[in-house]
Amino acid sequence: MNLLNGKEISETIKNEIRTKVLDIKASGKRAPHLAAIQVGTNPASTSYVTSKVKDCEEVGFTSTLLHFDDNISQEFLLNEIEKLNQNPEIDGFIVQLPLPKHIDEVLVTNSIKAEKDVDGFHPINLGKMVLGLPTFISATPYGIIELLKRYNIPTAGKNVVVLGRSSIVGTPVSILLSRNNAGGNATVTLCHSKTQNLKEFTSKADIIIAALGIPEFLKADMIKQDAIVVDVGISRVEDKSKKSGFKLVGDVDFEEVSKKSSWITPVPGGVGPMTRVALLQNTLLAYNS
Ligand code: NAP
Repeated sequence: MNLLNGKEISETIKNEIRTKVLDIKASGKRAPHLAAIQVGTNPASTSYVTSKVKDCEEVGFTSTLLHFDDNISQEFLLNEIEKLNQNPEIDGFIVQLPLPKHIDEVLVTNSIKAEKDVDGFHPINLGKMVLGLPTFISATPYGIIELLKRYNIPTAGKNVVVLGRSSIVGTPVSILLSRNNAGGNATVTLCHSKTQNLKEFTSKADIIIAALGIPEFLKADMIKQDAIVVDVGISRVEDKSKKSGFKLVGDVDFEEVSKKSSWITPVPGGVGPMTRVALLQNTLLAYNS
């Protein structure tokens, strides 16, 4: 078993970005600037947004965090988004999801100017991604493709099974892996909760991307010898031995699957840090566009 060490690779990419930012600043230009909007006090959202601000600081980006109460109106939020759309000092911004129930997430996502949509969730950017045009690729699929590339894991002609068809992970990663370009050209099967005889698909896969959100779903008897396994899942599972009272668990039973796989991502330290660094890569792209 070899580890696909997302933490290590993400540090390498951060160093590359940091060098580029130093060059930008040395030439007298302003640093790339990422803004994030958080609505409410969901602890997971607070943790994600805090990490994004910290990542910006680490590479020398400017960051702005706009934190609003969860009782703000949709109109107020749309107005704040429009201010960021119009602000020439902001290269890209994200609205941390989920939003309170009275706010329409689709409307909010669609109101972010496509050129500043560094999360890559806007339909224009998703459409460009499907067409293979240059655009912002959403962070988790981007991070997965980058991780495989950095480890020189070939995808062309490989049999890939993606578990989960969410619009932020499973669906885009299955499209990226099947596109006719570097990092693609795989034969991809996209499985979901209605898939029959799932094991028949997973046991033939050269590469499995698990993104279901079911802790330790993928077992060793579901994969073939030497398969490559990418675990996207992050679930909090109660663990009284931890100070926090929980531990983070992926969608793969790492203990047993790692003994049979050739390459595998750990949780934490696999796809998570690659997702974080992909947002920085997109912000730099927005700055340079
Ligand atoms: P999601 O929106 O919760 O969707 C889950 C998908 O899994 C759905 O397509 C569902 O099928 C499918 N599914 C559920 N049970 C299944 C089963 N028994 N067999 C096959 N497919 C099944 O997923 P998500 O937002 O992509 O998140 C997935 C996991 O990744 C979560 O743990 C999330 O926390 C984690 N995540 C991690 C990162 C990261 O940076 N590491 C980023 C994003 C998400 P249906 O469509 O039929 O319902």
